[in-house]
Amino acid sequence: MILLDGRKVASERNLQLKDKIAQAVAVHGREPGLAIIMIGDNPASLSYVKGKGKASALVGIKHELHQLPDTVTEDEVIALIEKLNQDPTVDGMILQLPIPDHLDDAKLIDLIAREKDADGFHVVNQGYLYQKKPTTKPATPKGIMTLLSAYDINPKGMNAVIVGRSNIVGFPIARLLMDAGATITICHRQTKDMAYHTKQADLLVVSAGRARLVGADMVKPGAIVVDVGVNRVDDKLVGDVDFEAVKEVASHLTPVPKGVGPMTINALLENTYELYMEHLVANKV
Ligand code: NAD
Repeated sequence: MILLDGRKVASERNLQLKDKIAQAVAVHGREPGLAIIMIGDNPASLSYVKGKGKASALVGIKHELHQLPDTVTEDEVIALIEKLNQDPTVDGMILQLPIPDHLDDAKLIDLIAREKDADGFHVVNQGYLYQKKPTTKPATPKGIMTLLSAYDINPKGMNAVIVGRSNIVGFPIARLLMDAGATITICHRQTKDMAYHTKQADLLVVSAGRARLVGADMVKPGAIVVDVGVNRVDDKLVGDVDFEAVKEVASHLTPVPKGVGPMTINALLENTYELYMEHLVANKV
């Protein structure tokens, strides 16, 4: 089994990005800026935003964390988003999910200026993605495609099965894999006999948020398996795939942690850099 080592690929790409950013800063005299809005104090979210901040600093992206209390009102969040939309030093902006129930995540994300949407979650950017037009791609699906390509895996002609249909992972990765020439099946909570489908997969992407949902009996021998899930079990992080069992049947497998997670962060940083370059070229905010 070949380990799809997201940490290694991401750190190599981050180093290349660091060079590109240093060159751009030498010419243009301004660093790329990433604003992260976090609401509440969910420990998992806090660790994700810290990871994003640390990685930003490493590549030379100036990041700022706006941590708001979980009692914040919608108007206060909107005021912050509008302020950051106007700030010429902010190239990318993300709203760390999940946010408290009294706030509407889709509404708030769509208020982020489309040209600062570093996560690629804005409804217009998603529309461009589904129409195969150039746009900022959602970070996790983009990171998965980059990881596959780093291992010379070409999805063309493969049966790709995706478990999970979220707007941020399952649905957009289906789109990207279909564009890359794979034949797509999407499984979700209402799917009957999920193992029947997953066993057809040459490439299986699992993003369900259910610890060890996929066992060896659900995987075709020789399949490529990408595990997006992050679940805390007995104070340990585990994926949606039973790693120890599936490594005996899969040809390629991502670990959790250090698989898709670092690739997601790398994709976010690359998105921020791309937005920064667009802003420099257009000389807009
Ligand atoms: P989500 O939590 O919004 O939705 C889960 C999806 O899985 C739904 O579409 C649901 O229908 C499906 N599902 C749930 N249980 C199922 C079951 N028993 N059988 C079949 N389908 C089932 O999805 P998400 O936002 O894509 O997150 C999924 C997991 O991926 C979570 O653990 C999340 O923490 C993790 N995640 C990791 C990264 C990363 O960078 N590593 C990024 C995003 C999400």
